[in-house]
Amino acid sequence: MSDVRVRFCPSPTGNPHVGLIRTALFNWAFARHTHGTFVFRIEDTDASRDSEESYQALIDSLQWLGLDWDEGPEVGGPFGPYRQSERGTDYDAMVDALVAGGYAYECFCSTEELDARRQQAMAEKRAPGYDGHCRDVSDEARSAYRAEGRAPVVRFRMPDRDCTWNDLIRGEITFAAGQIPDFVLQRANGEPLYTLVNPTDDAAMRITHVLRGEDLLSSTPRQIALYEAMIDLGVFDGPVPQFGHLPYVMGEGNKKLSKRDPESSLQMYRDQGYLPEALTNYLALLGWSPGGDVEFFSKEQMAQSFSLERVNPNPARFDVKKCTAINGDWIRHLAIDDLVERLVPYLQRDGVIGSTPSAQDMDLVRAVVPLISERLETLGQASAMVGFLFTDEIAIDAGDAEKIMGDQAGDVLQAAEAALAGLDEWTTEAIEGALRSALIDERGLKPKVAFGPVRLAITGRRVSPPLFESMELLGADRSLDRIRSLHAS
Ligand code: GLU
Ligand code: ZN
Repeated sequence: MSDVRVRFCPSPTGNPHVGLIRTALFNWAFARHTHGTFVFRIEDTDASRDSEESYQALIDSLQWLGLDWDEGPEVGGPFGPYRQSERGTDYDAMVDALVAGGYAYECFCSTEELDARRQQAMAEKRAPGYDGHCRDVSDEARSAYRAEGRAPVVRFRMPDRDCTWNDLIRGEITFAAGQIPDFVLQRANGEPLYTLVNPTDDAAMRITHVLRGEDLLSSTPRQIALYEAMIDLGVFDGPVPQFGHLPYVMGEGNKKLSKRDPESSLQMYRDQGYLPEALTNYLALLGWSPGGDVEFFSKEQMAQSFSLERVNPNPARFDVKKCTAINGDWIRHLAIDDLVERLVPYLQRDGVIGSTPSAQDMDLVRAVVPLISERLETLGQASAMVGFLFTDEIAIDAGDAEKIMGDQAGDVLQAAEAALAGLDEWTTEAIEGALRSALIDERGLKPKVAFGPVRLAITGRRVSPPLFESMELLGADRSLDRIRSLHAS
């Protein structure tokens, strides 16, 4: 074990999105690479937005992806509890100490007053942030405000000096003195804000490295100033964590991928049948790569060669096509038995097989999976590909029928039926031999013209698993019935 302690600390609001999971993955990989500790903390201090459902979805997502945490909900740890709402941290005491030490102060400005001054500042081309109005309010003025019925927020007093840190991903970053306005730590109703609770808990949990998205970069000078105040006050003995800001994740049209974009939902990828291995692989590429042009690797391989120096600070583009291609690579990489096991829940969900499938159905699944494994890009595609084997009523795709059923289709089907009806063994080879000799050798048809209508009859579609193998699996009676009934229609 090293001293490295990193954290993933989402708020349980909404559904986990891929940007959030990318942050979890990079923290996990850094912790594993350094033999440090991966802390998972739930920042659920905003009761109006947080939900139990979302909490469960976070736990579930990390478990599904195999991003195991060393301390956190479910597993506990020496700095617990790991749900902020259960920590019972005396944030009031922290606020009081900061105010008593002069590091924070009460601000009595109303929203309207703040707005009016912001407008004016903008009109005068000054920075629109909080103007320090209440920094030096006298005791009498404070009492007068209270007498008026005003309830104060508490603001942190940003020190009048530059803030510089050596970002682990972006190098040296400086915010000049005066650039960051005094910010609110505690609402008028006493509620502590992210600006206070997040660094307070990071300090309490001895976090050494804060790795998070670039969207949080502007909170870093605030947090560094707050840590320094806590050190001055003697409530934290340091050191201030090191910070690294992961690149933005961009979506379509080079806009920042938003929580609301459907392609950002982790659950959607699960539903469609992306493998956890493929998602961690693809998410790793949003800012990191192992070098060379290696793009296929497990999260364990990522952990082994991970380094922050190799994280690219430039925005990364989330490319669903590429993610899907990598998923296909992962599917082809699985042993057939493993693939079968992973496909079963999707086939059940789609009603292809029952919730307790018969032995016969399972045999059929095992037999057909090798026929489709090369072309599957997601597990969810399997149902449409193999459904025709598991039903007596296939639906002929109307669009496909229009393309396939040319003038010769009737003859083709009739000839196919005649050739197949005489077979005394129903094997892939025998079926192929009979159809080739009847349709191609004797009639001189092109394979597409010859086999298209048969494929449509058997599978209902123009694109399907290999035809002759499929017919063997479907059996002679059912195959001939289907050919006959398409011909008759
Ligand atoms: N709870 C914060 C969020 O989800 C954590 C941000 C951070 O990593 O500091 O945005
Ligand atoms: Zn004020």
